[in-house]
Amino acid sequence: MIVQSRAIPLTIRPWSRTSHIVTWLTEDFGKITTPVKGACRPKSAFLGQYDLFYTCDLHFYRRDHDGMHAIRECAPLELRETLRDNWRAVAAAGYLADLISRTAVTSTESRDLFAAWADTLDRLPQSQDLHLLMLWFELRLLKSLGLQPDLTLCPECHPQEQPWLRFSPASGRFCCPHLAQRTDGEVTLSVHRRVRNLAKWLLQSPIPPDPRLKMPENEKKIAENENPLLGLSRFLGIFIRFHLDAPSVVRRVAWEMTEKTPAPSAAK
Ligand SMILES: [Zn+2]
Repeated sequence: MIVQSRAIPLTIRPWSRTSHIVTWLTEDFGKITTPVKGACRPKSAFLGQYDLFYTCDLHFYRRDHDGMHAIRECAPLELRETLRDNWRAVAAAGYLADLISRTAVTSTESRDLFAAWADTLDRLPQSQDLHLLMLWFELRLLKSLGLQPDLTLCPECHPQEQPWLRFSPASGRFCCPHLAQRTDGEVTLSVHRRVRNLAKWLLQSPIPPDPRLKMPENEKKIAENENPLLGLSRFLGIFIRFHLDAPSVVRRVAWEMTEKTPAPSAAK
């Protein structure tokens, strides 16, 4: 059966001397993989029709028994050329594309995740705060997988005046005997209330948030040299390590590469 969907290439790997194996995030069928035979031949109909971070109009023969589908035709809808002029934005996009390719579900409709990914790619080149956008997308991805952290607080265990809260990554929620008994030896971590509020704000935002808008208590420091964004990055890093099959070193390098410190001055 030939089907059509908007699709964004997540990975493009060589396959034989002239062919590609392309993994896509599609709007209607989740993550899919298509071999593209002869993709690199000079007369290939697919030449220039797809690349990383393009949105494409993809037609393919759908096969239900395995994840591999035969590509029929493909045309670019959105090239996102400005993304390619900004290496930090490309580093962020590369990390997130890898995370999606490792975790997204195959053969199911994924409109929310697709919209979030397209939105993120559109905004990366102009983003004033790459880390905020990356954290927002990581939370969208977790939500689409049904794995988002439960940020509910208990009025008895987590009273307002208590700034630090204990979170259990394994159970995905704050520690509270009213909700769930803790198992012996369960690993927990300290999360500041402001980090929790920031995560909640991002989870509730259906589109990437503008950092200039009402970010909760953004300007207040939790401790010296620490802001809620850094705290949330640490928290999500641990949470992702617990729940997703993704190497944490990739995330750490991506985070460092997208740091907005002034570039060292060029060699004299
Ligand atoms: Zn409680």
